[in-house]
Amino acid sequence: MTDIPDIMLNNGQRIPQLGFGVFLIPPPQTEAAVTRAFQAGYRHIDTAEMYGNEAEVGQAISKAGLSRSEVFVTTKLGNDAHRPDDARRAFEGSLKALGFDYVDMFLIHWPLPSRYDGDFVSTWRTLEEFYRDGRARSIGVSNFQPHHLRRIHTEGEITPAVDQIEVNPYLTQDEVRRFCADHDIVIEAWSPLGRGTVLADPTVDDIARRLGKAPAQVVLRWHIERGDVVFPKSVTPARIKENIDVFDFELSGEDIEAIAALNRDQRTGPDPDKFAG
Ligand code: NAD
Repeated sequence: MTDIPDIMLNNGQRIPQLGFGVFLIPPPQTEAAVTRAFQAGYRHIDTAEMYGNEAEVGQAISKAGLSRSEVFVTTKLGNDAHRPDDARRAFEGSLKALGFDYVDMFLIHWPLPSRYDGDFVSTWRTLEEFYRDGRARSIGVSNFQPHHLRRIHTEGEITPAVDQIEVNPYLTQDEVRRFCADHDIVIEAWSPLGRGTVLADPTVDDIARRLGKAPAQVVLRWHIERGDVVFPKSVTPARIKENIDVFDFELSGEDIEAIAALNRDQRTGPDPDKFAG
């Protein structure tokens, strides 16, 4: 079974650097997909209230016979629940759906700067409560730009452990990465394969052929070597295995740079400064 390295977060907790994402896996297929992921060796699952499949993730964990401490689970606050009382109810709802008394990581899913009078700080302070009472072992944010993070840094008390943002070879996110590196915030790269869009790129394909690896493995390895956390999604058993099998080779410095040079600041998802949920 693959040994997945852990990354140390700024609060001393550890997170497996590679996990399994369940966005867009329909609830009836989620338990089977997560079970397959566990069989392949994944021990980190990334879900969200808005994915509608937290209960199925929880069921897969309880049926796998894994102890709670063997699995790292992240979930996220829904966009309609940013007000503190709503956030408290939503967090309890997520714990109940998962069947847990704590989550390993709880995130604000989107900053939503045009909603709630632009106030995501009181939402963050509510997550700080969950961290202090131990029901969230770590807290973080998702889709936050440096100017959002700066507000949390000055107006909040706890530095987010992670910022989960869209990153792939066509969207290298250098500015957010610099801010996070300076503030000891780990980057989690969502849609690490650009939802498949980067896999046919000739540079990626050349490197994959030379190393005898699949394009998806080269792209995932690139993220790993940059130090980011990734959780590719697939429901196809062969791909679930392929995506975790990225720890027996390395990319050269030139290959890492050649892939980073593909950047075109091209998003597949919404712009966090405009997205209203
Ligand atoms: P991804 O980049 O992981 O791409 C998944 C798609 O790539 C699959 O549907 C499949 O078509 C293809 N694929 C997967 N493995 C492959 C392989 N080995 N070979 C060829 N094709 C392959 O995109 P994603 O699912 O959008 O993102 C992964 C995870 O990131 C999500 O499940 C979720 O957990 C997280 N996410 C978070 C946010 C956020 O706002 N925080 C947004 C989107 C996704």
